[in-house]
Amino acid sequence: MADALRPNDPSCPLCEAARITPWFHEDDICWIAECEICATPMVVWRAHGTEPATDERDHMMRHLADVAGAELGDHWVDGNMRNIPDHFHAHARPAGGFFGPRSKLA
Ligand SMILES: [Zn+2]
Ligand SMILES: [Zn+2]
Repeated sequence: MADALRPNDPSCPLCEAARITPWFHEDDICWIAECEICATPMVVWRAHGTEPATDERDHMMRHLADVAGAELGDHWVDGNMRNIPDHFHAHARPAGGFFGPRSKLA
């Protein structure tokens, strides 16, 4: 479980957790918001790092599946951390697609 508070990185946009898009879920371990770029639900670990414990990872994937099922229906989980490789996060993307329905890039 999330033990002591882990240090965040002040220069990391995921640590900043700015509410610039709709948020679908938040708790002590993670938050899920619409990705600003992709317009798909994205789960973000509360801690700055790339190695969540197995139970934390399971927790995040469970919540992401719930949100993505409601928002997208059929979907796949993209664990590739392209833009911010040092802070664990994962996108849910629509089946057969990459961007969500509201994305301007789609
Ligand atoms: Zn994205
Ligand atoms: Zn971070």
